[in-house]
Amino acid sequence: MQHKIMQDGSIHPGLVILVTAGASGIGRTIAETFLSHASRVHVCDIDSSAIDDFLRANPGASASVADVSDVGMVDSLFNDLEERYGALDVLVNNAGVAGPTLPLEDIEPADWDRTLAINLHGHFYCARRAIPLLKKSAAGSIIEISSSAGLFGCPSRAPYAASKWALIGLTKTLAMELGPFGIRVNAICPGSVEGRRIEQVIEFEAHEQGRTPDEIRSTYLRQTSMRQFISAQDVANMALFLASDLGKSISGQAMGVDGHTESLSNVMI
Ligand code: NAD
Repeated sequence: MQHKIMQDGSIHPGLVILVTAGASGIGRTIAETFLSHASRVHVCDIDSSAIDDFLRANPGASASVADVSDVGMVDSLFNDLEERYGALDVLVNNAGVAGPTLPLEDIEPADWDRTLAINLHGHFYCARRAIPLLKKSAAGSIIEISSSAGLFGCPSRAPYAASKWALIGLTKTLAMELGPFGIRVNAICPGSVEGRRIEQVIEFEAHEQGRTPDEIRSTYLRQTSMRQFISAQDVANMALFLASDLGKSISGQAMGVDGHTESLSNVMI
């Protein structure tokens, strides 16, 4: 099978990439990384002002407003994609929310449902529409964005951890279903990403636990062997590698990008 990707690992110009929840955060960094490798990039996001900002900064990209947990909006998203490009080479199933931070018995069913609807069901809705397009691609690939919480238990984050573990099951199963069609399916499991979001979590937990932010931060850093947070660019680099010819024999894997998580159990207790 002819691959549309160059041997040096760079992506062949014109590859069509869809990044869900791609207007900000990790998704935006992934989208901009593929754009910088001359891919054609479409993002979706629930936040129209974030999309406006993304498109102002990246006029070569395209976008749809869509909540991935809404099957009708996902259908409209894929109609937009097909109308514009008529093809898809890589689906980056990135959308995910933190969900409630509570012991399980205190979690409201509606909050559980909402977390699973975005973090799992939305990935199914996008994958089922992507697969017929990927089957026509010479370089078809799905990249699921899971989490360290998809590899470890994560106290007080049950719906998040359950959804992220489910994505590993989805990845391994789809890799088996789609491998015969030359489509690879992998999951990236990022650790905590440096920046505003983790700093807000640290402030919140310090307040909740009556500890200082520095104490909470060092608890987080002790989760990893490398005693570090990661960057969104680290995740984007792995996505690029997996979509490139360098990753052409990698499928069905859950790849940690996390400085080696040892445990998540020492946080949120
Ligand atoms: P984020 O909170 O920064 O949000 C990114 C984008 O998602 C936003 O633009 C938001 O509008 C959009 N979004 C939210 N709900 C949506 C929905 N229902 N449909 C479409 N778009 C929606 O997220 P992030 O930190 O960049 O995380 C991206 C992915 O990486 C998630 O799956 C997350 O679970 C995972 N992850 C993040 C971290 C981290 O430390 N940030 C660590 C591990 C895994």
